Amino acid sequence: MGLLSLGTPLPWADAKQYADHVRQHGITQFLNIWDRLKDRQGDELLWGDEIEYMVISLDEENKNAVLSLRQTEILAKLQPLTSEIDANTDSSVSVPTFHPEYGRYMLESTPGSPYTGSIRDLLSVESNMRYRRNLARKHLKPNEIPITFTSFPRLGVPGVFTEPPCDPADATSSHSLFLPEEITNPHVRFPTLTANIRTRRGSKVAINLPLFIDERTPRPFVDPTIPWQRNIYPEDPEARNGAALNDHIYMDAMGFGMGCCCLQLTFQSCNVQDARRMYDALVPIGPIMLALTAASPLWRGYIADVDCRWNVIAGSVDDRTEEERGLKPLKENKFRIPKSRYDSVDLYISEEWMNRPEYNDTDAPYDSCIYDRLRKHGLDDRLSKHISHLFIRDPIVIFSEMIDLDDNESTDHFEVRPPSAPPSNIQSTNWQTLRFKPPPPNSPIGWRVEFRTMEVQLTDFENAAFAVFIVLLSRAIMSQNLNFYIPISKVDENMHRAQIRDAAHSSKFFFRKSIFPPASSRASTASSSGNVTPIDGVNGINGHVHGNGNGTGKKERHLRNCFPPIPPPEEGLPNGSVEAEYEEMTMNEIMNGKGDSFPGLIPLVEEFLGTLDVQEPEREKFASYLNLIRSRANGSLKTPATWLREFVRSHPAYKFDSVVSQEINYDLMVALDEIERGVRSAPDVLPSDYKGGEADQGSLEKY
Ligand code: GLU
Ligand code: MG
Repeated sequence: MGLLSLGTPLPWADAKQYADHVRQHGITQFLNIWDRLKDRQGDELLWGDEIEYMVISLDEENKNAVLSLRQTEILAKLQPLTSEIDANTDSSVSVPTFHPEYGRYMLESTPGSPYTGSIRDLLSVESNMRYRRNLARKHLKPNEIPITFTSFPRLGVPGVFTEPPCDPADATSSHSLFLPEEITNPHVRFPTLTANIRTRRGSKVAINLPLFIDERTPRPFVDPTIPWQRNIYPEDPEARNGAALNDHIYMDAMGFGMGCCCLQLTFQSCNVQDARRMYDALVPIGPIMLALTAASPLWRGYIADVDCRWNVIAGSVDDRTEEERGLKPLKENKFRIPKSRYDSVDLYISEEWMNRPEYNDTDAPYDSCIYDRLRKHGLDDRLSKHISHLFIRDPIVIFSEMIDLDDNESTDHFEVRPPSAPPSNIQSTNWQTLRFKPPPPNSPIGWRVEFRTMEVQLTDFENAAFAVFIVLLSRAIMSQNLNFYIPISKVDENMHRAQIRDAAHSSKFFFRKSIFPPASSRASTASSSGNVTPIDGVNGINGHVHGNGNGTGKKERHLRNCFPPIPPPEEGLPNGSVEAEYEEMTMNEIMNGKGDSFPGLIPLVEEFLGTLDVQEPEREKFASYLNLIRSRANGSLKTPATWLREFVRSHPAYKFDSVVSQEINYDLMVALDEIERGVRSAPDVLPSDYKGGEADQGSLEKY
């Protein structure tokens, strides 16, 4: 989320009358971009990561670790500071920026200016992330720590879990029984989003995560920490009237989801066609990377039987009415909507021949008027479906100052345009596993794809490893015309499986068996051995020639971004059964390969690296990243989620009752910080040669 403009937000009762207006103008704004930029070509690879942090305040005396609600003060120190660095350093240096996020205890950082596709930039990611963390750390109080941690284990427990302590009795936007108003970023957009989601839905959000039942967990588990009888708001009886399920961890507010932290990556593509291709290729990768980065088994003071945040966030912003959820016949609303606005992608969008129409096999309702309008404007069926599917949602936050906009200048009804993140828009409140992002108006930025599933990792070493891995995988996909398509229904099933306890090591996932296109479609970019042969051509907005344009076979030090379309196979388009194209594989098989029948994503990335001019010390760094991911996938290292569950279960104060007590949580937060800094080892979850943030303060060096 970027910086936020101020204004007067409308409550839902007033906002809803403008929903059609926002949709109509949002589409006009999108079409204006489309007309101007659909033929834009030749953008170089620019990319960036977004890391979300929680600020923890350690109360050593009371052995309590709580969330520090000082986001506003901390950002007030960090934001001018980064512009100061900017002024004092070489302009080629990528100065990080810090942004607000939903939780008042959260920070978000980005590299400031994007990384390029140079090998040296790839290898600067970890140092850049570490620099950002240390910068944040320097501006915290001595007892505060910035942790990259997905879900805070004691968010919403009875008693003190914030600094300063706050009372949930005043939760005017969420009406939560557990989370105080002060948990939410005070910028009006966030309380309004929270309140309007609840009002539109017609009740509080209701999330029930299965509880991890331990040896002494009482059965049935009827949560004693739910204030069953409290009756301040009209919806309060919800918990006792069935919203809170036994044997589950019940959560009733947006903060439980949007208060989670993740690692996101955005890539600029060469052109719109490549962005669509990349988007599709990464859709089936989304759940795989979610399972592999799983890091959130602890919620509202309990151990859950799930490992990931995804469904919690989906539930936390689920503004669908009862009609839309299929609980009542449609009367007021237009559509039955199968998923929350935060959920897995519903439609593949590429026009390449590999994208068989059969793959879009789930119910993805779309607005037929918007679809017809887009088609009449000349858009193809697939992109028209995608956009008109996103536009079944209502804009949730509308600012009275921002209703009538100049559709040539603004895209605010379509999507956020950082840094003045606009309030009322459709695309930015469709939080899906991937986001297809058109160029913002009046900016040098091109067509982009955002990869959104990964849980943030404890250390910058891990975060950099996963970021670099996805960038390299994206190049392997494009340079070898890899085909990862499986039906969307199977991707959905994988999303479900990815979140189950220990999915990375005990689940199987649907994955495509044959990922290389037929030989005739491979010819232009890959040799018969499958090795990548660089393509001649100009690549980059500045007209730089990146790549082996001279035919000498010299290896490159820059990742290319432009690829020719995939030639259709000479033997005709595939028409066999879609079911025969995929099978269930373990994480280890998907990542490390399965005998001769499936190469594995890591070997594909290694092979791609082999086509680049990587020098010796660089090779070692890449190898350390791939080793981490390989070890996670084959089980020789644990996922953070497994490690966290075991930390709690092996703590001397644990009573085998599924409860994460104040003391356990305190020791865990101290341990996380020490592990990150490298002063405590954690050989189950990190490679033994991990040195830690204390050994390296990070740098802004950009090469
Ligand atoms: N924090 C959210 C997550 O964990 C993402 C919010 C955003 O899009 O920045 O997925
Ligand atoms: Mg964010």
